[in-house]
Amino acid sequence: MGRLDPVEQLRRRERQQSLVAELGRSALTGTPESELVELALDAAAEGLGVENVGLFEPSPDGRTFVAHRARGWDAKRSKPKSVRKLVAHAFRGDEALVATDIVAATVRGEPQPLGVLAAYSARPHAFAHDDVVFLRGIANVLAVTAARDRADEARRRSEEGLGFLAEAGHVLVRTLDYEATLSSLARLVVPRLADWLIVDVEEEDGAMRRVAVAAAAPEKQALLEELSRLYPPEPGSQQPAALALVRRAAVHFPEFTPESLRATTRDDHHFALMTRLDPRSAIAVPLVARGRTLGALTFAWSESGRRYDEIDIALAEELARRAAVAIDNARLYESESAARARAEAAQRRVEFLSEASHMLSSSLDYGETLTSVARLAVPHVADWCVFYMLAEDGSIERVAVEHGGGRQDIVRGVLAGHELKPDAPTGAPYVIRTGHSELHAEATPVSLASDVEQPEELAAALAEVQVHSTMCVPLIARGRTLGAILFVSAESGRTFAEEDLRLAEDLAGRAALAVDNSRLYREAEERGEAARALATVGDGVVLVDRNGVIRLWNAAAEAITRRAAADVRGRRAADVLPDWERLADAIPVGTAAQPSVSPETIPFAIDGRELWLSISGVASAEGVVYAFRDVTEDRRLDRLKSDFVATVSHELRTPLAAVYGAAVTLADRDLSGRPDLHRELIAQIVDQTERLTSIVTDILLASELEAGRFRLTPGEIDPILVARAAVEGARMRLREGGRLELVAPESLGSLETDAGRLRQVLDNLIENAIKYSPDGARTEVRLEQGNGSIRFSVSDEGVGIPRSELDRVFEKFYRLDPEQTRGVAGTGLGLYVCKELVDRMAGRISVTSILGRGSTFTVELPRS
Ligand code: ADP
Repeated sequence: MGRLDPVEQLRRRERQQSLVAELGRSALTGTPESELVELALDAAAEGLGVENVGLFEPSPDGRTFVAHRARGWDAKRSKPKSVRKLVAHAFRGDEALVATDIVAATVRGEPQPLGVLAAYSARPHAFAHDDVVFLRGIANVLAVTAARDRADEARRRSEEGLGFLAEAGHVLVRTLDYEATLSSLARLVVPRLADWLIVDVEEEDGAMRRVAVAAAAPEKQALLEELSRLYPPEPGSQQPAALALVRRAAVHFPEFTPESLRATTRDDHHFALMTRLDPRSAIAVPLVARGRTLGALTFAWSESGRRYDEIDIALAEELARRAAVAIDNARLYESESAARARAEAAQRRVEFLSEASHMLSSSLDYGETLTSVARLAVPHVADWCVFYMLAEDGSIERVAVEHGGGRQDIVRGVLAGHELKPDAPTGAPYVIRTGHSELHAEATPVSLASDVEQPEELAAALAEVQVHSTMCVPLIARGRTLGAILFVSAESGRTFAEEDLRLAEDLAGRAALAVDNSRLYREAEERGEAARALATVGDGVVLVDRNGVIRLWNAAAEAITRRAAADVRGRRAADVLPDWERLADAIPVGTAAQPSVSPETIPFAIDGRELWLSISGVASAEGVVYAFRDVTEDRRLDRLKSDFVATVSHELRTPLAAVYGAAVTLADRDLSGRPDLHRELIAQIVDQTERLTSIVTDILLASELEAGRFRLTPGEIDPILVARAAVEGARMRLREGGRLELVAPESLGSLETDAGRLRQVLDNLIENAIKYSPDGARTEVRLEQGNGSIRFSVSDEGVGIPRSELDRVFEKFYRLDPEQTRGVAGTGLGLYVCKELVDRMAGRISVTSILGRGSTFTVELPRS
């Protein structure tokens, strides 16, 4: 094109000016930017009179320029190299340029030019300076419009952002629930601020945990979940959240390239996964509340193709601040409410156990105790429960079944048909054997049936009863396992956990104590009854435990041994009973199976007394129970009787032999020449016959007295006369040089009694006095006035009687010297007969004696 003439040039400038002004008007009237660009291109083409006009913008990689909007040329293909060069130059230099066939003007912008407006003419030297001014004018209108639009956009976004934050603040404070807070956060962000969002939290120990992922597209949601599972957040890694935590500041990925994306991944699969998630731009911001980093939010734009810029970062940071406070509040509230729930649960537990203790302590009855435990356990702890008790012989019995739904009968019936297997490696036998509890959180009829002989059958039978969870705890009291309780959760569907097991164990501990108390009480009661019975039996009953310690000593044992129970109980038998160990060997002892054995009579020396006990024992788990009776008296009588037989036969034989001898001599020999001898023999016969008579009389009288057949024949008598007759009658028996004297007042008046029997008593006493005195000894019979009575005393200077035997001389058959070693004959009946007679006369007989010096027997008879 040649140069234009001045008129033409002027007209063209005017036209150009009006085109710029028109464009400026369009811009001022608010024409949208895209439309304005079209108008600008049209205006440039018209004003410059060319076909090829374009608005060039830098390509995303910044290496070249592309005419996104153009007139006339196909910017991509037909643009000459010179155009590109000039455009690049203009872009950098921010200047309008003109070449021979090109004119270009920079569209200014902040922080860098927005693009370059260029026109091209196939004709050389087509453009003049005016054209440059014109094109710059157009470019300026575009720049101003763009700046205005940017300002509008920024205002709009900041208004939008503020609105968003206001809403976020509102939504986030609405709940104190952690999960709800997280899902509100996700709903706020996706899809307005991200195509997908990840929430990671940092634990106390620095570990990271992914707590939420949210994606607008469902397939991305699935991918995010897979990502969380396979590549959980890792502190110190290159994942955006990890970086944000380390930096405690936002991390911005304005745009991802395959390389920059790979840098955030750990391995190929991670990268492949991220590639499918396809983040185009991302921001990770730390969640900081009250000065503490709680975690990080990762925002990503993906399929929407958007990019994050500075405004988005500011918005994300602000959102993160609010979210952090909400999350922290929710966490605090959650830990507080968890603590409160724990405290409430603990309180309920305490209440339950105190109610249990109360109920359990209110009864000492075994059956009632078990029922109480069952009532407490069902339904508070379980839906049904079974009690197992360990019997004495080691077998296990099911004693009670309690079911909340009233289905005890079904369960009871089903269980009753199945014997427990004592050595089962699980279930009640195991728990009782080891004392360890068992918890099956996920139980089935099969696991429940595993402790019986035929588990399959029971499991099949239990099929209609729901079994969800079981626990079996031992009943242990005072170190002894008494049994076990099985708790079953059925229709309630409750799953037992460690906490339930602890509660069950606690309940079982209390129940065991109560059961044990009721057992002790029952035993104590039985023992009480036994003790009452034992107190009344005549036999002595003594329990000596396995350690040889006396545990029981009944009233009869006290009476027989004259030892108080309080003094001997708790002491070793060997310390209480001299020579116990040797004697115990001689005692026949039966067993529980064969308790009856014939007792043995064994002499015990207790406190210097000889005690003959007829004793036998029965061994039991606790020791040996001995039963005995005192046979000392019987034994003594037996001995006396045998002594008597010996004595009497001797006593009878001696006079009989004398009578026989005298009679034979009289018969065989002619004693006509010896009248003295004849008389003497006759006298001997008379004398010995009298003696025989007296012995036989004593024996008869004794048996009469014993049989109660004896009667007195009382009458008025003069005691002095009776005494004198007795003294005179005895004179002929006096020993060599012996003296016998009666000392009596003039008169004592009369006495109402049996004269013959009184004479018999006095005869006996005088005879003994002479018999047990040496030759030449003096015997005195004294009569005195007593207090309303008359006292007869017979004193001698004889051998005397030891003090310990004084009481016994009046006993039947008693003789101080049964073997008659001193040659003094006697039956041991005389003093017995005397005492019996005096008793019947309502009198009293007594003796005082000094061994070796003599004795005095005194009879006191009442006057009436
Ligand atoms: P006996 O036929 O043996 O004399 P008694 O019943 O009369 O029987 O006496 C019992 C025992 O008492 C005697 O064996 C003797 O040991 C003792 N006794 C009785 N009287 C006297 C006495 N005066 N002096 C010493 N001992 C006596």
